[in-house]
Amino acid sequence: MQNAPPITPTSMRCAQCGYDLSGAAIGGVCAECGLSVAETIRRQTQGLRSSGVATTCMVLGILSIAICMPLGPIAIIWYFRAMKEIGQGGYNDGSRSMAKAGLIMGIIGTAIIALYAMIVLLGLAL
Ligand SMILES: [Zn+2]
Repeated sequence: MQNAPPITPTSMRCAQCGYDLSGAAIGGVCAECGLSVAETIRRQTQGLRSSGVATTCMVLGILSIAICMPLGPIAIIWYFRAMKEIGQGGYNDGSRSMAKAGLIMGIIGTAIIALYAMIVLLGLAL
């Protein structure tokens, strides 16, 4: 054997485009999208990030139900911000679930405000 460059495990796929990186040099880049092989390895060994925006969205949703209903619409706005961030890739499924939970709780919080507003308006009308 000569001094061959280190190569990736045979089953590895590009973290960005899914291109088969079998036999690619670890110091090289994906032939399809140009992402460095080292970055693919880093993502596979460290796992995907969790989205901070999604976490914030869920916290806002919980707070909107628990203590402060006006946060409901804000949680809904943060849901769309979280989906935009998650859509860029590199985030785990838990982030998506957290954002969805935040959205649902945000909608409930908003519905409670709407209900209060109707009760107040009815009270004024009577
Ligand atoms: Zn690629």
